[in-house]
Amino acid sequence: MCICINCTYVDRCATYHAVEHQHQQPHLTDAPDFDPVEPSINVNIRTQNEFVEMEWDVVGCESFTEELGKWARLRPGEAIPT
Ligand code: SF4
Repeated sequence: MCICINCTYVDRCATYHAVEHQHQQPHLTDAPDFDPVEPSINVNIRTQNEFVEMEWDVVGCESFTEELGKWARLRPGEAIPT
C-alpha cells in the first residue's frame, strides 16, 4: 500500500504523479509542483501467463506529512488505490 494516499502532498507531488502514471490511474493533478525528499519506491513484478504486472508503491519518504484520508476526500466514492 502506497503511503501517499494519507499524505497531505498527494495532489501536488511529482513522485505520486509518476506512480499514478505507472498504475494507469487518472492524475489528481496535471501539474505537480512539489518535489518530495528521498521517496523510496517498492516495485513488485508479477508474471501471470504472458502478462507482466508491475506495482509501484511509495513505502518511505522524508516529505511524508500525514493527513489521514486525503486521497479518499479528493476522490469520494472511488476505490482507494492499494
Ligand atoms: S509521501 Fe512523499 S512521495 Fe508520497 S505524496 Fe507524500 S511527499 Fe509525495
